[in-house]
Amino acid sequence: GRSAALRARMEERLLSARFRYINEQLYTCSSQEAAQLFQNDPEAFEIYHRGFTQQVGRWPENPVDRIVRYLRQRPASLVVADFGCGDCKVASSVRNKVHSFDLVPLSPLVTVCDMAKVPLAAESVDIAVFCLALMGTNLQEILEEANRVLKQGGTLMVAEVASRFADIRAFMNAMTQLGFKSISK
Ligand code: SAH
Repeated sequence: GRSAALRARMEERLLSARFRYINEQLYTCSSQEAAQLFQNDPEAFEIYHRGFTQQVGRWPENPVDRIVRYLRQRPASLVVADFGCGDCKVASSVRNKVHSFDLVPLSPLVTVCDMAKVPLAAESVDIAVFCLALMGTNLQEILEEANRVLKQGGTLMVAEVASRFADIRAFMNAMTQLGFKSISK
């Protein structure tokens, strides 16, 4: 009884610690290294995703819901690319054509690839989404890839934890240099 409960609690804490460790790794390594990490250790992805879902579940609002609400207000004819799509909440919630990219296929809707190099033609999407997925130290390469696949005048949507930005103004300036104009923050 009591020792089983204690054991379960301890195991839960170890899993959360592993989630935080993997999460930190994803934000401090390149996207190519992240791909290697999940390839070499499929269990890492499982633990990561469980922890991610748990964490987001405790937030007052899941940003992916806000992105879905925004997409529903815009024409369903717009083509969307979801970078680091996770369980494909975007693709499964809107009528638009959604290209869903992730390192691991949590759903059959996923195209497995590194988001720094997605199998899409240049200027083929209207809206690019990074929902809690702007990870990887090669940020510039990843955002250039989003820029490549976006049509002129397309929309880039980024949802990220505020504490992840060392300097939000520097980030906004860098985005301008990459060719993006801020519409709302
Ligand atoms: N956008 C989803 C999932 C966010 S979790 C949501 O909001 O629910 C972050 C996701 O990004 C994970 O599924 C992780 O596997 C993916 N990811 C991290 N680095 C990646 C990379 N280099 N290429 C593709 N996907 C990546």
